[in-house]
Order: sequence, then structure tokens, then C-alpha cells
Amino acid sequence: MIRHTSAVTCGFASLLAIGLFPLLAHSQLRATLTTSDVAVDLEAGANGPRLLRLRPAGAPQWVNTVGEALPVSIERDGRRVPLEWRLMPTLSSVGPERVAFVYDSRHPHLRLTWEWQARALFGPLEHRITVANLSGGEYWLAPLDSLHLKWRVPPRAQLTHFYIDKGGGKPTEQGTHEVSLSERYDWTGWSTTFSHPVPGRPREIIPYEAVFQPEEGGRGWYAGIEFSGRTRLTLHRVSEYLSATLGLDPKPGPVLTRLTPGGMFESPTAFLGAFSRGPDGAGNQLRPWVRAVLGSAQTWSNPDYPYTVNNSWGVGMDIDEAVAKKMIADAAALGFEMYHLDAGWFRGVGDWYPDPHKFPRGLVPLADDAHAHGMKFGIWVDWTQAGLDGEPGALNLRDPKVRGWLVAEVAPNWKPQEFKGQTIDIGVPAAKAYAQGEVNRIVRDYHLDMLEHDGYLVAQGCTGSDHPHAAPDPRRTSVNHYDGEDIVTSSNSTDVSYHAVRAYYDIYAQLRRLHPKLLLEICNDGGRMVDFGSAAHGDYFSITDTYTPLANRRAFYDASFVLPPAMLEAYEAKWPTPTAASFLYMLRSGMMGWLTVMQNTIEWTPEQHAAARKAIALYKTQLRPLIRAAQLFHVSARPDGVHWDGMEYWDHALGQGVVFAFHGSDAAEPNHRFVLSGLNAQAIYHLHFEDGTSPDTTASGQQLMTSGLQVVLREPLSSELIFLSGTG
Ligand SMILES: [Zn+2]
Repeated sequence: MIRHTSAVTCGFASLLAIGLFPLLAHSQLRATLTTSDVAVDLEAGANGPRLLRLRPAGAPQWVNTVGEALPVSIERDGRRVPLEWRLMPTLSSVGPERVAFVYDSRHPHLRLTWEWQARALFGPLEHRITVANLSGGEYWLAPLDSLHLKWRVPPRAQLTHFYIDKGGGKPTEQGTHEVSLSERYDWTGWSTTFSHPVPGRPREIIPYEAVFQPEEGGRGWYAGIEFSGRTRLTLHRVSEYLSATLGLDPKPGPVLTRLTPGGMFESPTAFLGAFSRGPDGAGNQLRPWVRAVLGSAQTWSNPDYPYTVNNSWGVGMDIDEAVAKKMIADAAALGFEMYHLDAGWFRGVGDWYPDPHKFPRGLVPLADDAHAHGMKFGIWVDWTQAGLDGEPGALNLRDPKVRGWLVAEVAPNWKPQEFKGQTIDIGVPAAKAYAQGEVNRIVRDYHLDMLEHDGYLVAQGCTGSDHPHAAPDPRRTSVNHYDGEDIVTSSNSTDVSYHAVRAYYDIYAQLRRLHPKLLLEICNDGGRMVDFGSAAHGDYFSITDTYTPLANRRAFYDASFVLPPAMLEAYEAKWPTPTAASFLYMLRSGMMGWLTVMQNTIEWTPEQHAAARKAIALYKTQLRPLIRAAQLFHVSARPDGVHWDGMEYWDHALGQGVVFAFHGSDAAEPNHRFVLSGLNAQAIYHLHFEDGTSPDTTASGQQLMTSGLQVVLREPLSSELIFLSGTG
């Protein structure tokens, strides 16, 4: 776990030292915050702060031309109250890891803190803005953006915009986007916890954007948001300016959030970094940073993370104690390390107690059985859903108390679906307290090592008028029915998500304090919550809800540009595997990150058992160390299932790596050359073909990075693992 401090220089002090102090206006501060990859120069003017420039290590700087726009007014009882801000030098601080410029407004008394932080020696810097209400009155504030940039760029500079779709229910056709940033380029990307089709909107993105110069060594900058609520990112190029805005989505507006007396608004934290060598260069900096700064130290200190998992959905709803025990015994013999009990175990939606017919003795005997086999035990829960069950402990939405928590009233004849009820707004303190108690009870009483949440647990919109968020505006409210869920969109939607996401993070932070070894899987009908806020509060993501080899490789290809492979889970469902090669192809398609096999392995043939046992053992001994720590290179186009695709891992410190090679369905392409990256051109590497499809050989880094690594696979839908070793 790397949590070093960074080198920081205080511009105020250094300017003072060289005698320039008189040139600075009264009450003006400057500071520089640095990591090994980037520095930012910051200035606190009398009336507002500003990011002056971003200075990548060893590359030209990006000059910012816009200051922070501090709120000019705030609302009280529907009336606009103008604000005047002034710098508070004595409250501001410039430290080795953090720079905070503080501004106060006198009437009403508000305190705005404009903060930058370096939380690791390397990687990006974080930025957030807080507004604290020090007055005795309640006010309504238009949320501040997390980050606003307006770089000056040469008018003819070639720039490329890079962004990534979420895996959602099914990966999109394109998934990973590299777009030429031409004059008048105007782009907006959205991220919510829903990621469902909205007319006129493309698939939602992982809230991250990068811009680089393909002709200049792939140098550029990237920025992202550590938040799961309704956010949007923009990019706009006009003449010599390139503007970017990241923050809570201001539409539909007007968005206002409540500032209670003594309360505070916090803009979602943004991060800003600089890189070279294109999107993989950015990823090889950002992924270790996510691990070191956002990830759980406890989780990463476990050398068996990421686990290999067998999931009960291979038998669907036909699960019961006897079936689960047979699956556990088979999974243990195959070498799996966790048994994951999926939906189908509980009494009903909102009634998270074991079905007495399927599990008459409860879940503990099953957890004990998994543990006796040396395995971990986890379950699926959708813990924000209310239903109609009347059993003690059930969340019944006819209960007047629960009714007040719902995101919207339900019709008198409403009935829950099999796994979905009506969402409660966990931004409501009483609902949050219920959820906190319920997840803790579930983990404690069922002896869980892993809790998977699913479903739309963060409300997108809410009609509750007495909740902490703003009330909906009936003139601006639309209700869309999507996949069993009423999605309410109104001018309060962003504020609803703001409160609910913060509650969700609090609930999981507390759960982790109570159960430090617990693993948290983030699932939202697949990969709808793949974002950096979730990454800071959970351990791994379901990256898509389509479980084929192609969908898994596509979702992995996309998300692995910005998130550690260990956090990216592929669910492998039953898939036609008529040959030994196609069986391995299916297994390996989910072995580039976290592997969850969602199949009834008892049905596998003895040959398939033997092959899986060997593949899982190889994963644990050879692949997992690379998945945890190696650099990652996308050495092919995005998988299309027809042509070849592959992924390269290279761990410089270990002198080891692997290339995953997948041959698509096209029989006319028996061989392929993967041009590798990240190696030492002068070094000689030993190449081991795991399945023996080619004899082991050696090649220079130069050869591998120019003419490439040749792989020959005659059978369509087959695969190979090529291990590299060498000192370089
Ligand atoms: Zn609400």
C-alpha cells in the first residue's frame, strides 16, 4: 500500500525568498502541489482562486485561462441573496500534501474551501470545493462544478479525445472512443447509477475524460470524478481554447441543494493528471493510483485477491441447501476460492431472510460448509428494495414509515417483481439507518465474507417532498418506466442522487469498519456503477450483465483502461464449448481480472473438470500476481469476436508478463502478430506458449515491439497464454 506524501513547494514562500513578494497583491497566495507525474500551480486571488497551469513531468505545460467562479448568490425562501467572497489568508493553508484556500462570505456567513490534495507520490491530484453554512439560517445553493478548465491550445494542434462507455447491461458496439478533437468539438458525457437508454443520449460513460496529442508522444491530461450520482463531463474546443467541465449534472435545472444551519455542500472530488504514451500510458499511471489511493488497504493486503469464484446462478432459482452443498464440494475440488450465493435464496424482495423451504436451517450451515472447504462465502442482496412481505424484519412498503421513504408512491395494485421492488431513498436519515442496520445484520448473521449489492440502490429521482433533498418540481417531472423501475427525472434529480450516494458511501464505510475483511461487490444490473466513487467504497465491479466470452472481453477491454484489472469481474455463464479449446477460450475470457464462473460445474465432463482445475491453478500461481500489479497494454483492437484480440501484462519488477491471445470466429485467420509494449528493446525475452501451440522461444524486446509476437491457432474460438520472462 503506497500512501506517501508528495513534494510540495509553497509558492508564497519561494516568491518571498526571491524578493518578488511586493508584486503580489495584498491577500494573494500562490502554491504548487507536485507528484512525480505532474504539478499544479495554484493562486488565491482576493476574490477567487485559480488553477494557473498543469505541468506534466518532462512535457510542456497546459495553461489554464479561467478562474474559479464562486457563487454570486444563494437563495433563501425563494429570494436571491447576493454573495461577496473574500480571501481568508489566516484560515488558508499550504501543506506538503494539501493546499486549501479559504474564502468567506459575511452575509450570510458562509465558508468556501478550495482544496487540492496529493494522496500519493505519483499520479493525479485531487480537487474539491466545500461550502459550509456558518449562519443560523437555511439556504439553497446551486452546486458548484467539481472542476472547470479552459486550456489555451495552439489552434492547429492535433488533439484526440478519449472516453469509455460503461459496460451496463451489455457492452456497446464501440465501447472505447478515440475522437479527433476538431475545431468546434462539443461533447457531453453523463454518468448516473442507471446507465439506461435515454432518448437522445448515448450510453453513459465511466466518468473520465482524457485528451492527448497523438503526434507528440501521446502526451496529454486526464480528469475524472469520484462520485456515483448524476454527473456530467464536457469538452469543447473553440479557436485557441479547450474547455472542460466536470461536476454534478446541472440539468434538468434549476438544481439547488439545501444548506442547513451548520451544514455543508461538498462538490464531488475530481482528479486531474498528466500522462504520455496515450491511453495505456494514462492507465498505467491511473490504475496503480486507484489501487493505492481509492482501494481498500485491507483488501489489497490479501495476496489471494482477486478470488476465483463459483456462483450459484448456474442453477438459477433451483438453488437450495443440498444443491448448494454439492456445488461447493465441486467448486472446492476445482480450486475455486469463494462460493457466491446469487439471487433465489431469500423469502422475498425486501425480506432478506433465507427461504425456509430452500434453506430450512438458514444460511449459516452453508457458510460453515464453504469455510470447511477452505472457501469464502458471499451472497447477493438488493438492500434498498421494499416489497409487500409481512414477515418480521421485511421492508413492507405499506408500512406508513417505509412509505415515507419511497422514491415514489406505488399504485394500490402494485406487486414486486421477482428481484425488484420499489426503491427507498437512502438519503432520508431514517431509511439510511434502516439500511445500515440491515446490511450489518446480513453480514453478521449469515457469516459473510462478501456482500454483493445489485439493483438501483441510489435513487435517480424522488417525489418525496419532506426528504433532505430539494422537492420535485411537478412542472418539470417525468416518470419513465424502465426494466421494472419507475425512473423519476425532475429538477431535484441531481440533488436526490447527491444525498443518496453520500448515504451509500457512509453505509459501506461503516460496514467496512465493523467487518474489516468483508469484500464488497458493486453490481447494478451489471456495470452501471463502474465509477471512481464506487471504486473508493467497494472492492470489485460486475462490469456487464451479459455473460458471454465476447461481452466479458469487451467490457474488460473498456474498463481496464482506467481501473485495476483485479477490480473487474467477469461472470461466465454456460456457453457452447464443443471442444477443449473452446472451453478454455470461455474460461480465459474471464481470467484477465476477477473470475466468477456462473455455471453448474457438476455438469462439466471429467475432461472439462481437469482442464478447469489446471486453468484455475495457473490463474492463482501465474496470472493473479500479474493481474494485481503488472502494467497493462491493450495490444489489439477492441474484441469483435470475429478477429483476434489480446491483452498484455508486463511486470517490470518481476521481469514477467503474459499475453492473452484470443482467436475469434474467422477460420481464415490462423495466425496473428501482437505488437507488444512496455518492454526493453535491448533485452532478450523467453516466450513460453502455455498450450504448446508453438515451441518456446526467445525474442528481443525490439522484435516484440516492432514485428510483434506471432501466435498460431488453427481452431476458431480458441486461445493461448504466452508467458514472457526476462530482465528488462
Ligand atoms: Zn427522496
